[in-house]
Amino acid sequence: MSDTKMCDGCLRTLPLDEFPTRKHRGPHSRVSRCRTCRNRASAIWRSLNPDYQREWVARNPLKVAGYLRAQAARLEASVTEEPIVGTKPHVDIAPACADLDLNKGSKQ
Ligand SMILES: [Zn+2]
Repeated sequence: MSDTKMCDGCLRTLPLDEFPTRKHRGPHSRVSRCRTCRNRASAIWRSLNPDYQREWVARNPLKVAGYLRAQAARLEASVTEEPIVGTKPHVDIAPACADLDLNKGSKQ
């Protein structure tokens, strides 16, 4: 099996990674247009249909709520359960903040 494929849009021969898979057709089925062509087509479509997303959200509040719940669950799962005790912060922001005059603006 070839590791490259020709795009039906730009006619370039590109690595398979440039072609998203079609999950409903199995893990080896790839779309016919490369990511660049698909992104360009999506941007054109969105510019021609600027209100579509807002209207879709208004028509599908239950789906939106489900997506938001799933996103919150993923975020919660990504947060470590172990408390951070006795360790320094991963990023030391003190030097960056040292130049800030926190009392600035509170002059009387
Ligand atoms: Zn292409």
